[in-house]
Amino acid sequence: MIVCITGDIDYFDTESIGCLDSYFSVLGTYNVTGTFLITARAAEEYPERVEYIIKHGHVVEGHGDVHRGVL
Ligand SMILES: [Zn+2]
Repeated sequence: MIVCITGDIDYFDTESIGCLDSYFSVLGTYNVTGTFLITARAAEEYPERVEYIIKHGHVVEGHGDVHRGVL
């Protein structure tokens, strides 16, 4: 079975280290690697969280400069 998990992080407003840890724990239980799409703004404001994701063996990909809803 192949499982694809992606996460969309626009601002890191809710994705604290504790939140990431809980999520990684679940992924680890099933030996699943996640791919996290992160905006440049979020990465600039919380570089330690991006490094934390990478340190835990997950993949970080770009998600534009910012992510705003279409008006
Ligand atoms: Zn987004």
